[in-house]
Amino acid sequence: MTTENRSIAHNLGFPCIGPNREMKKAVEAYWRGEISQQELRQIGADIQKNNWQLQAEAGIQLIPVGDFSWYDRVLATSALLGVVPARFGQVKDLIDLDTFFCMARGQAPNGQEAPPCEMTKWFDTNYHYIVPEFDINQEFRITCEVLFKAVETAQQCGHQAKPVLLGPLSFLWLGKTKGQTFDKLTLLDKLLPVYAQILQRLQQQGVQWIQIDEPILALDLPEDWQAAFRHAYQQLSVSPIQSLLTTYFGALADNCELVCQLPVAGLHIDLATAPEQLESVLQHWPQDKVLSLGVVDGRNIWRADLSQALAQLKQAQALFGKRLWVAPSCSLLHVPVNVEGEQKLDPEIKSWLAFAKQKVEEVALLATALNEGEAAVVAQLSENQAVIASRRDSAKIHSAVVQKRITGLSTGVDQRQSVYEKRAQIQREAIKLPDLPTTTIGSFPQTKEIRGIRRDFKRGDISVDQYEAQMRDQIAQVITRQEELGLDVLVHGEAERTDMVEYFAQFLQGVVFTGNGWVQSYGSRCVKPPIIYGDVARKQPMTVAWSQYAQSLSARPVKGMLTGPVTILAWSFVRDDQPLADTTLQIALALRDEVVDLEAAGISIIQIDEPAFRETLPLRRKDWQAYLDWAARCFRISASGVKDVTQIHSHMCYSEFNDIIEAIAALDADVISVESSRSDMELLEAFQDFDYPNEIGPGVYDIHSPRIPSTEEVITLLKKALQYIPIQRLWVNPDCGLKTRGWKEVEIALKNMVAAARKLRDCHAN
Ligand code: GLN
Ligand code: ZN
Repeated sequence: MTTENRSIAHNLGFPCIGPNREMKKAVEAYWRGEISQQELRQIGADIQKNNWQLQAEAGIQLIPVGDFSWYDRVLATSALLGVVPARFGQVKDLIDLDTFFCMARGQAPNGQEAPPCEMTKWFDTNYHYIVPEFDINQEFRITCEVLFKAVETAQQCGHQAKPVLLGPLSFLWLGKTKGQTFDKLTLLDKLLPVYAQILQRLQQQGVQWIQIDEPILALDLPEDWQAAFRHAYQQLSVSPIQSLLTTYFGALADNCELVCQLPVAGLHIDLATAPEQLESVLQHWPQDKVLSLGVVDGRNIWRADLSQALAQLKQAQALFGKRLWVAPSCSLLHVPVNVEGEQKLDPEIKSWLAFAKQKVEEVALLATALNEGEAAVVAQLSENQAVIASRRDSAKIHSAVVQKRITGLSTGVDQRQSVYEKRAQIQREAIKLPDLPTTTIGSFPQTKEIRGIRRDFKRGDISVDQYEAQMRDQIAQVITRQEELGLDVLVHGEAERTDMVEYFAQFLQGVVFTGNGWVQSYGSRCVKPPIIYGDVARKQPMTVAWSQYAQSLSARPVKGMLTGPVTILAWSFVRDDQPLADTTLQIALALRDEVVDLEAAGISIIQIDEPAFRETLPLRRKDWQAYLDWAARCFRISASGVKDVTQIHSHMCYSEFNDIIEAIAALDADVISVESSRSDMELLEAFQDFDYPNEIGPGVYDIHSPRIPSTEEVITLLKKALQYIPIQRLWVNPDCGLKTRGWKEVEIALKNMVAAARKLRDCHAN
């Protein structure tokens, strides 16, 4: 049978890291000067070839090409379109790889150096992209041949290549204007001819379909952007190439009508995040065009319920026939490569999981069921149903104890005993801190020595006792250093933590780890998110012994240090059989137990970090309030099992919280520390309209940069802060944890920070 008569199985993108993080290793080796550019390119080519082969063998007919990139695909789009800021030098003909890396990292193996481009989160995922920079005179032209070469290679390998492009409007939307501010949409008419050229070249290469990603169609779009969509796709429709307009991460909702009128040959929608949009799309999308349904969740690791997916597909098949295509909901970049290699996972839990390889197999199977009837795949379907049922009913997932605790929660469980004002007074008398108390965010430099101790322990080279003794020694060292620096509230340094989520997840029932479940976070950086598969409860105290030991060494308060419920949720793969709010509540209760135990162990200040509080914010504004309500409640539940005298801190590392400041106040933490020094205290503008009621420490030392702030600089920042926050409620701290920095710079920076606080205290006393 030819593909024309059949529903097509296709994919939107495959992880580029390689089955064993070959990409990461190669890129880092290249950065260190250990391999040549040619060797690097060879490794990249091999990863891509293997990815194509794997997908083809699974039964994918249209193979995504151009989904691979050395660092990030938005950066690759900037390189393709000639969007290279002037500080990286004039691009003559084609951009070279070192310039590409320099844009991402601020340096390159050839010695090139310049301030790197900004990096930020890709929608509501944990992937980060390099932000394109546009100036008012921005010109566009093709400055990279990588995409065209990849298409050629894929075709030589016998694949039907479907090039993947980030659409012109999403590209503009995700970028930033530099220099003079101006409306980015004014660049569209200069950008479109370059897209047209790209389409023309791809068409000359024999490409029939391209995938053009416009994920911003799942966002609230201003009217001028909606109009720009009409204009842009009208212009591009001149090309004879067929475009599959690809949307994901949410429903088209109020953009549905607009999308259904665009002159493109096909549309892809995400039914994993937004199954409810199927009805309206079936109603409005023209039936003589292609409709691709993303029925396999591209962002989570559970096996799909194929019978449920088939029901959705058949509803569409009745209208679209062979013009119905099957796909994952979004690029598989967000899931690990292959679950088969997981040796140590509980076999039952493993049977519930699908990584990228398994997901493309699911997609292909669904297409076969559509094309040849369910009878053709009856064995696979029934195996799938058995797995779905096994997971649904498994005793591993449901804990009567957890359920009972949740049903029994009292209404006041998320409230401290007294309001902040009263608590603050009690805490002031008990904890006895000066005005402008100084502290840090938790971690201290993770030295070679510390990593060595953890590694030796993991390998079994040292015993538990040896490990604990060595860690205690590290704690003692940082306590001494902090006392010498004159900090007021100390920390134990977090030497025992490789990662702020993984550390806690190992003590939680209902959570497992993979051996090789890496996903790309940015560039060569990969993370291995824990998998929350069942009801969560704390197995045993998680941090109490370390904190207690640290406190025993000092007369000053040492903060207990925890990761908050929303952040543990955000940086894990989460079960999809109950609302996120329910899972977060379970995590919150587990943390609450830890908080109560820390208090009982004599810890008077406990910090519950929520750096991911904002990133989990829904893409659509209408969904914000519901999220903020449950997220804040979960935080409060974790924090409010203690007496008034115990001081609860939280930490968030972003400064754009003007639009959620009320929700942050609703956390009712006694003290929060936030990032701000990079934005020069811009965040404080939020306090002009909203009187933040509790204590706050806007970061005065940018830990993302090796720069050391002087005492005077810190004083200036603090004086600015004092215009908005009364001295009794202002804390002095860095932006974030210090684990990525070196001791030398940290010592001087903290010394300056303490000196600044002391000088200001003296000014105020006189
Ligand atoms: N307590 C953590 C640390 O200091 C916080 C890290 C973070 O905010 N990402 O490392
Ligand atoms: Zn932080």
